[in-house]
Amino acid sequence: MAQQHKPSVLSQNHYAPSFEAESDEEVYDANKEGLVRGMLSEIGEDPEREGLRRTPLRVAKAMDFLTSGYELSAEEIIKGAVFKEDVKEMVVVRDIEFYSLCEHHMLPFFGHAHVGYLPNGQVVGLSKIARVVDVFARRLQVQERLTSQVADALMAHLGAHGVAVVMEASHTCMMMRGVQKQKSTTVSSAMRGTFKDDARTRAEFMGFVRG
Ligand code: ZN
Repeated sequence: MAQQHKPSVLSQNHYAPSFEAESDEEVYDANKEGLVRGMLSEIGEDPEREGLRRTPLRVAKAMDFLTSGYELSAEEIIKGAVFKEDVKEMVVVRDIEFYSLCEHHMLPFFGHAHVGYLPNGQVVGLSKIARVVDVFARRLQVQERLTSQVADALMAHLGAHGVAVVMEASHTCMMMRGVQKQKSTTVSSAMRGTFKDDARTRAEFMGFVRG
C-alpha cells in the first residue's frame, strides 16, 4: 500500500531537508498531486514523461513548505525565547533573507528584512527574529502586509517600546515579464511605537539599515 503523509509533516520543521520522493511508491498528498498533474496537462505537457513523473509530489511538498507559516505561531516562537535584560539601546538585525509567494500570481518574491526594536526590560534571541519573518513570509502575501505582520507580532509579544521593519524585495512576477524590470526592488516599512512617534529614533534605525 502506498504511504500517505499528512501534508503538515513539512511544517513541523523550520527547514525542509528535501522535496524528493522517499520511495517510488510514495504518495504525499493525492489531492494536491492530482491538481498539479491536471495543471501539467493543461499547459500541454505530458505528466507521465520521466522528468515530470514525480513533479506533482515535489510541487505538493514544496507548496506545503512554502505556505507552512499558516501553521506556525510567532507568539510561541517569541515567548519561548524572551529573557530579562536591562538593555535600553536599540537592537537591529540587518539583512535577514526571506522568500515568500505573492498572492496575486503565486510566484516568489524575495529579499532582505531589517528589523529593529527598543527593548523594555526584555530581549529576544536574535535567531527568533529571523524565524518570525519566516512565519509570515511562508504564506501567500503582499509585501506591505508581510512587513506589517512582522512588526505587529514583535510589538505584541516582545513588550518593546517600539519596532521597526524595513523590507526590500524583488518580485519575480514583475521581473519575469519583460526587460528592464530585473533590477527594480520594492521597499516597504512598518514603524510602531517609538519608531513611529519619534523622528530621531526612526532616523537612527534607517542609519543602521543603510550603513
Ligand atoms: Zn505577483
